[in-house]
Order: sequence, then C-alpha cells, then structure tokens
Amino acid sequence: MIHTKTHGKHGDYAIEATGLIKRFKSGRAFVEVLKGVDFDARHGDLTMVMGPSGSGKSTLIAALSGLLKPEEGRVDALDVDDLWKLSTGRIDRFRLENCGFIFQGFNLFPSLTALQQVETVLKFQGLSSGQAKKRATTALEEVGLGHRLHQRPAALSGGEKQRVAIARALAKDPKILFADEPTSALDGENGQVVIKLLRRAATEHGAAVICVTHDPRLEAWADRVIHIEDGKILDDQRRNPDPDAVLASHH
Ligand code: ADP
Ligand code: MG
Repeated sequence: MIHTKTHGKHGDYAIEATGLIKRFKSGRAFVEVLKGVDFDARHGDLTMVMGPSGSGKSTLIAALSGLLKPEEGRVDALDVDDLWKLSTGRIDRFRLENCGFIFQGFNLFPSLTALQQVETVLKFQGLSSGQAKKRATTALEEVGLGHRLHQRPAALSGGEKQRVAIARALAKDPKILFADEPTSALDGENGQVVIKLLRRAATEHGAAVICVTHDPRLEAWADRVIHIEDGKILDDQRRNPDPDAVLASHH
C-alpha cells in the first residue's frame, strides 16, 4: 500500500539538493570530496546511493542532514528552503523532529537497555514517560524484539543491535531516514532483515529512505539506485523494486 499522506511544499520530494561542494583540509591543501552534487529523494522511495569507499557517501548524508556544512550548494528539505541558511539550533531541531539515522556501527548507548535506547529519543522529543514507553515498546515489537526489551547492547547480537537502532530511528516516524552502510557489519540473514525493515519504512511509513551502501543485495529492493564516484553522481536510475522482494518485506 503506497502512502498517500500530503507532503510538504516540495510535493513528492522530501529533499532536493543542488550543487553541493564539500572540501576537507588535507595538510596545506583542500580535497574536494563532493564536487557539485545534485540530489533528490522522494517520500515513499527507498533511494540507494552506491559507490566505493571514499567516494563521498557519508559526507553526502552529512551535508543533506545538516550535520556538515557544505562550502557551496543548497538543500531544500520538507518545508525548509535552504537548510544551511538556518541557525545551528534550528538545523538541529529540524533533524531531531524529522530525521532518523541508522549507522554501520549501530551507535547505541552501552548502558541503556533496548527499551531505554528508544524511550530516550522519544522523551527528548517531548513525549511523556508513559507515551514514550508505549511507543518504544511497539517500535521494538515491530522489529521483532518484543522479547529483548530489557537487554543492554552487550547482550544483543549484531543483527539485534541494528534492529534496536532501526526501532529507535522509526519510533519517531521520521519523514526522512538516513542509513549509512546499515548492513555492512551484519551477516547475510541479518542484513536481509534490515533491508526488509528499510523497505517497509518507505512503503508503509512513507519515509524517504536514503540508504548509502556498497551491499549489492539491496539493489533489488530499491526504487532508485544512484552511483557516486569520486564526489560525482555517475548514474541515477529509477527502477521498479522486485515485487517479490516488496511482498517478502511483509513477513
Ligand atoms: P564514503 O562514505 O563514500 O566511504 P566519505 O564521505 O566518508 O566516503 O569520505 C570521502 C573522502 O573524504 C575520503 O577521502 C575521506 O578520507 C575524506 N574525509 C571524510 N571526512 C573527513 C574529515 N572530517 N576530514 C578530512 N577528510 C575527510
Ligand atoms: Mg562512509
């Protein structure tokens, strides 16, 4: 079922970015890591960005999500025109309210239980303790971790940890979900579970899911595959995700 909620002023687009240039200092010189990247992503799409290590994928996510200011270019996201023109505080608030993140290394707090990892984010967003607990429990049940609520990361497998991170990201129903190499640290079976959850986030929640990866298994699940190399977009193809793959994401 394709999501049909009304979107922001950019219509179907959750993000539109143009002319992104990002340079890093390297000794006395500057290295250009994004070389004028145009990028957009739609609500309800699983958009994959593929490219070799060092091609600028993580930098692109950082520039799109307000984490790392590009030297040039602009990002329009949801109802915000030119995100980088906002104050740091407003950029942070935009990210907190609208964006979820999933990373290769899970980025969980070692001392918190699975339930607390998710609750913390929701309370930070202003939910009461009761609401946060209820919503966090549901989010963890949805990723199949209803029986692991009170475990800390050390007691969880890699696949379980990534599912906690996904529950944490999805619990706030983000309009944009950024995933940076979410399956790289996982074996095939756990990777598959994560891919299915990303697919569902796009199809059922209507999120714009932007997944950076060099895992070719994700291709069958994507609505769009973008190739980046050396800071430039080389190829951008809309495709129909494998219908079997989409159906399978419901199991
Ligand atoms: P990818 O995610 O595709 O592997 P990155 O976006 O992480 O690539 O990095 C692209 C290039 O930018 C790499 O050469 C990397 O070394 C460099 N780089 C990334 N972050 C920084 C930084 N904070 N300072 C300097 N160089 C960086
Ligand atoms: Mg990276």
